Formats: sequence, structure tokens, C-alpha cells
Amino acid sequence: MGLSAEVNPASLSAEELWQRCLEVIQNNFGSNPAPIRTFLSAVHPLSLNEGVLTLRVPSQFFYEYIEEHFSRLIVRTLRRLLGPQARLEYHVMTAAEAAPMRLPSQELPPPTVFPGLRTGQPFPTNLNPKYTFENFIEGECNRLARSAGMTVAQRPGQTAFNPLFIYGEVGQGKTHLAHAIGNYARLLHPEKVLLYLTSERFTQEYTEAVRNKKVSDFLQRLQSIDLLIVDDIQFLVGKPATQDMFFHIFNHLHQKSRQIVITADTPPSELRGMEERIISRFAWGLAAPLYPPDYETRLAILRFKLRQEGIDIPEDILVYLAENVQSHVRDLEGVVIQLLAETSIRRRELSLNLAREIVSRFKPMRHRAITVENILKVVSNYFKIHVDELTGKSRRKEVAYARHLAVYLARKHTRHALKALGEYFGGRDHSTILHSCQWVQEMLHLNQELNRHVQDLERILLRAS
Ligand code: ADP
Ligand code: MG
Repeated sequence: MGLSAEVNPASLSAEELWQRCLEVIQNNFGSNPAPIRTFLSAVHPLSLNEGVLTLRVPSQFFYEYIEEHFSRLIVRTLRRLLGPQARLEYHVMTAAEAAPMRLPSQELPPPTVFPGLRTGQPFPTNLNPKYTFENFIEGECNRLARSAGMTVAQRPGQTAFNPLFIYGEVGQGKTHLAHAIGNYARLLHPEKVLLYLTSERFTQEYTEAVRNKKVSDFLQRLQSIDLLIVDDIQFLVGKPATQDMFFHIFNHLHQKSRQIVITADTPPSELRGMEERIISRFAWGLAAPLYPPDYETRLAILRFKLRQEGIDIPEDILVYLAENVQSHVRDLEGVVIQLLAETSIRRRELSLNLAREIVSRFKPMRHRAITVENILKVVSNYFKIHVDELTGKSRRKEVAYARHLAVYLARKHTRHALKALGEYFGGRDHSTILHSCQWVQEMLHLNQELNRHVQDLERILLRAS
């Protein structure tokens, strides 16, 4: 196109240069450039310095994607305009830069309060800076665990939440929350010593220490820690020697009021194959669940992740996705990635049809949303109580109990307003419905049996629909 003939390279700004690159990219990507334009509109030319154009991109995904698909075109354009030394560089935005989103309740201090003050840490923390509270979306499903996590990060070892035991099924955010606690504590308490370990890593390091006759070094290191995070403790099951070592360290840290954070895929009482004395130690602190995300939280997470990737999505598509991808937060992320890939790599229009297609690709995902009828049927089967009784007037204890659970599940898994739910449950008014929900919500933390009933029912519901 002879671009070089008409410009004086010295006079180009980063903006102008980037505009040129965009033109070239669009000319090269054929008939339907709109999705690429959308994609690239999230990219900003940051600076042009001595032939180096720096692009600010919203996330790692963008960086990799641009590298793979556009960088050759961009660099070719740069060289044509600026000369053979021209180069392309990226600045990947942090989560805070990318999505300066207000959290609904607790405020975090700005991350610049303690610049370079760190003194305590004699070995790597193993913390992944990518997982923070800023990008851990709060919702009904994680409220207790999240706020307890923030509390222990603020005052490690100084609260009743010791240990803080976080449990939930795979993909519900245990690892994210575990790192977030560590990262936040590191920010607030630069003098403290922190360590994040998976229980496999713990086992590995201990086994190695035994082999190399370095057990006392290992012990010394772990006992010096102010905040110890052990992820996926269930993998210590069936390893009695490692459990013994863990027990020893746990007691030492706890006695010295050091903070311990543990995650697992079940509540402590259900850690089968774990020594009883260890399980009873876990009960000293707080066990906080992470439940599958409810509709509101799914919506918030999708919105957040899409915004992070710089994607503008019509509300109806967002709602469709939040309604139909219900099992794991991880699947929500999968959807975002696929959406990005389809609209940018394959250059397809962001439509409801595309959303449907993507949803259907996720095997564990459901094509049908859970309905109140489903819930009534499942609860009825589970407790052997007729649906008519559940929606009727009976005040028998078992019936009222099952009804409370059904109402709670309906509120959590469908989008009906309280008033509409009242209709489903035999014309009850909205405050009765609300009361049931609140009662169950509270009991989830206090009553293990009820907690198990809810989990069982949810498992059945997710499988059935
Ligand atoms: P687990 O350890 O329970 O299997 P992860 O912590 O690995 O789950 O979470 C799976 C993915 O979902 C991660 O990428 C994590 O960042 C994301 N995720 C989970 N919960 C949330 C949340 N509340 N807000 C934002 N992202 C979340
Ligand atoms: Mg995990």
C-alpha cells in the first residue's frame, strides 16, 4: 500500500502508529472485521520509544492472542514505517488496572501502602499474585469463607478462625481464596513469614527431607511460619507418617498463635481416612463452605471476567450464559475463553446462537435450567414426602423442614422473585419464602445434617437436569 512513502516516521505518535497497524490488520482480516475491532479496541498504544511500540493489553490472554495472531502483521507494519529496528512490546495490565471494580462490601486498602517494606520472608511464599480478593467475586455462595479469609489475612492468628478450614467441590475457588488470603496478608504484614503449599507438595518436601536426613531443617522452616496455607488437605489421606508430621507442625503453630489456613473438598468431619485427632483439631477454628455459585454470583463473575478480557457483551447473552452454566466457576471461565476464541480467532458474531453452541460444548453443563418443578420432585423423592404436601398447609415437622429446603433451593437455583416462588409453594407470601431462605442459610453453618441434605439435593439436581 506504500504507507511508508507518505509519512515521516519521526513525527508519528504511538496513537497514529497504532492506527496504521489497525488499518493493516483489518485489511488483512477480510470481510467481517467487527469482532477483531472489538477485540483490539481493548488494546491501547502506551508509548513509542526509540522504535519500540508498547501496547497495553487487558490480560495475559490478550498478550498471547495478539502474539500468536497479529504480531507478525504489526511488526511488519512497524518496520515499514519506522525502520528495521522497530519492535513490539506489551504491558499486561494487573487485575486492579484492568477492572477497577468496587467490591460490594469490604474495602481493600490501596496496594501501594507498603512499598518495598518486606523483611520477614526468608524463602519463597509460593503465592500466585494472580489470585486476589479484588478478583474474587463475592456472592451468597462464598460470603462466609471470603469474609473469614479477609479477617484472618488482616489479623493472622489473632482471631477465633484458627485454623480457617475452607471446603468445597472442585472448581469452586478454594485455591483462589487460599492465595488471596496469603497475598492480602503479605500486603498488610510485610514482616510476617508466609507459606503456601499444596498437601502434595508438603508430602513431597517432607519425604525428601526424610531421604536427605534433613527433617529438622524442614521442621524448623515450617515452624517459623506466621501464616501457613495448606491446599487440598484431603490428599494427606492414607499417608500416616506425613499426617503425623503435619499434626506436629499444626500444634506447634497453633500454640504460638500462628495462623493456619486449610482447604479440602469436604467438611472436616467427612475427611475419611484422616486421623481422628487431626480432624478434631480442625474443629478448633472455623469451617467455611464454598458452594456452587448462585445465579447472581454467576452473573457477576461472568460480567467481571468478560470485562477483564475487554469484551462487551449484550445483556441477554450474559443472562443466558449465567442461567445455563451452573456447576463450577471454572466452567464460567471456560465459557469466557471460548467466547473470546470464537469471536476473535474464528471471527464469529457474538450472538445468542453462538452462546448456545458454546454452552452445549461443556459436557457437565446443563442445557436446561433447574425449575421449581424439578426441585419439588427431587425433594419429594429424597424425603419421601408428596409434592402436594410440600406445597400444602401441613405443619408436620418433617414436611416443614423439607419445604424450607425446597424453598431455599428454588430461590438459589431459579430466577423467580419471592412473590412468584410464593405461588409455587401454595400461595405463601413473600415474607414466608424469605424467612425459609434465611433460616436455611443460617442453619447451613450450624447444622451439619441439614448441610449434608442440601449438598445431596444439589448434587441430584445438577445431575438430573
Ligand atoms: P478449586 O481450588 O476449588 O478447585 P479454583 O480456586 O482453582 O477452585 O477456582 C477455579 C477457577 O475459578 C479459578 O480460575 C478461579 O480464579 C475462579 N474462581 C473461583 N471462584 C471465583 C470467584 N468467586 N470469583 C472469581 N473467580 C473465581
Ligand atoms: Mg484447588
